[in-house]
Amino acid sequence: MNVLKVYKKLLDIYGFQKWWPVHENQDKVVEIVVGAVLTQNTSWKNVEKSLENLISYGCLSFECIKNIDIEILKKLIKPSGFYNQKAKTLKLLANLFLEKKEITRQELLAVKGVGPETADSILLYAFDKPFFVVDKYTKRLFYRLGFTPENISYEELQRFITDNIPKDVEIYKEFHALIVKHCKDICTKTPKCENCFLSCKFKMEV
Ligand code: SF4
Repeated sequence: MNVLKVYKKLLDIYGFQKWWPVHENQDKVVEIVVGAVLTQNTSWKNVEKSLENLISYGCLSFECIKNIDIEILKKLIKPSGFYNQKAKTLKLLANLFLEKKEITRQELLAVKGVGPETADSILLYAFDKPFFVVDKYTKRLFYRLGFTPENISYEELQRFITDNIPKDVEIYKEFHALIVKHCKDICTKTPKCENCFLSCKFKMEV
């Protein structure tokens, strides 16, 4: 099974995931930038609580995040954890996005609290730029499928995937979302191989 076949199989079984989930009547770019920071080391359920707080407070905008008292911002985003650092990162990003329209990956990575996964999520989902998002689920799945070593670096895995699928933003968006879906539902820490429709090295070994 090659990488593209894995994508097609996941899509066939789960259908389009249509990421990134955003609220109606909110600024898509702002919500994705904020969500990409808030989702670090926490579940999406917790991110949603913080986003709801920001929306209720009328603060899901770069202007508000830039100007709001940081202690209030921390309270609003508290449900998603690590709120001290995340509040600082959100303020830095709000400043950056208010200053410049076009932001490069390097500029995002220079912001304290923004790593490759967060930067690529912003670039791919908010700006439709072809940066494939790699996360712990991607590493786990590609290792178990026998494609890549367990301790592969972010950039190496990203390159491996993009070398093996068409350079298409819609495929990048869907494939990442499908990997997350599959790893949350079936290829979990203790994988439910008996329910899995992918043939893989890991399944054959157990
Ligand atoms: S067969 Fe098992 S290890 Fe392989 S992808 Fe499916 S759930 Fe994961």
